[in-house]
Amino acid sequence: MDQLYATRASRMKASEIRELLKLLGEPGIISFAGGIPDPNLFPAEAFAEAFQNALGPDQQAQALQYSVSEGYAPLRHWLVGYMRGIGVECDIDNILITSGSQQALDYLGKLFLSPGDTALVGWPTYLGALNAFDAYEPRFDQLSVNGNRGAAEYREAADGSPIKFAYLSADFANPTGETVDLRGREALLDLAEELDCAVIEDGAYQALRYDGDPIPPIMALEQARKGSIENCRTIYCGSFSKTLSPGLRVGWVVGAKPVISQMVLLKQAADLHSSTINQMAVYQVARDCFENHVPMLRRTYAARRDAMLEALAQHMPDGVEWTRPEGGMFIWVTLPKGVNGADLLARALETVKLAFVPGQAFFPDDTGANTIRLSFSNSDEDTIREGIRRLGEVLRA
Ligand code: PMP
Repeated sequence: MDQLYATRASRMKASEIRELLKLLGEPGIISFAGGIPDPNLFPAEAFAEAFQNALGPDQQAQALQYSVSEGYAPLRHWLVGYMRGIGVECDIDNILITSGSQQALDYLGKLFLSPGDTALVGWPTYLGALNAFDAYEPRFDQLSVNGNRGAAEYREAADGSPIKFAYLSADFANPTGETVDLRGREALLDLAEELDCAVIEDGAYQALRYDGDPIPPIMALEQARKGSIENCRTIYCGSFSKTLSPGLRVGWVVGAKPVISQMVLLKQAADLHSSTINQMAVYQVARDCFENHVPMLRRTYAARRDAMLEALAQHMPDGVEWTRPEGGMFIWVTLPKGVNGADLLARALETVKLAFVPGQAFFPDDTGANTIRLSFSNSDEDTIREGIRRLGEVLRA
């Protein structure tokens, strides 16, 4: 069939890393690889009750039926309140429920990118965003936002292809864990104005702040400048995956109404709507539990982050550097030049039974060979300390 595939298929590549990570099921392996929530922390009882209600006599006809593409209205209402809480004023027509925020990234690629258009992304950036956008055959250009200098810059496109959007996670990015400060966010908005491009703000980890003061989302800052969400070029992607459950695949996107209307059309064409019963369950659990559940997650993950940072300070040889995230799930490690993250992974799996993700995959141009991503969300503190001790051992070897 190969000769029948569309040209975009040639850009999709299977990852060798996934092959290596298949070994993860083996006993004794410590994994800092997957950027996944700890399943022991899922609000499972609350979900059991929510699904039981949804399947009860009052709701089952709705729960098991087709529903509107925009999403379950009570959930969208709840999200209006949630967005207000983080500084964004919108109404339910500014919100579309998606099947995870990953689907929003795919739709945004589909909506904005013609082959050859430019997408500005961080170097490194979230691999899933690169893969989602890549299907629409763009070129990627490097976006750098430096809060200290109050500067947002990009590498000038050689061929002058239109720049359609800048994509970034401003809070605790995947893979680096880094946060863009207020000046950086304002500078990014200035750059987007100058380029007349959209801003895609990925808020997947936004609720998981462990210390420091929250910084308003880019969308809130733009709204403060322009008065109404209808004048905003920022599109905000949110997710329940990191706070309630990734398996239910419920996320959302917030934008000016004309953009949301376009995305509703895309959703109608792609999957009609996200699972009705899952949206109903997420609504009930968000309404009843979010407020208490998320602080518990923050306390638990903060302790794991601290354990990893302390262990890195204790066990890393000279010449190794790492980020100190204020939230999220990741620490990004830069190894001395010449140490290759993928080789290190192969060796770590074989000799000390340790897994992590080599950083190169997060760069559109395959630079960054001497980087690795560590996730602290899915291991307890003792396991984290032991895993980092093993990392030190394999690096010294
Ligand atoms: N954005 C970022 C930065 C992520 O790390 C992830 C999940 N790993 C997603 C989006 C997608 O998450 P979901 O589709 O589960 O909402």
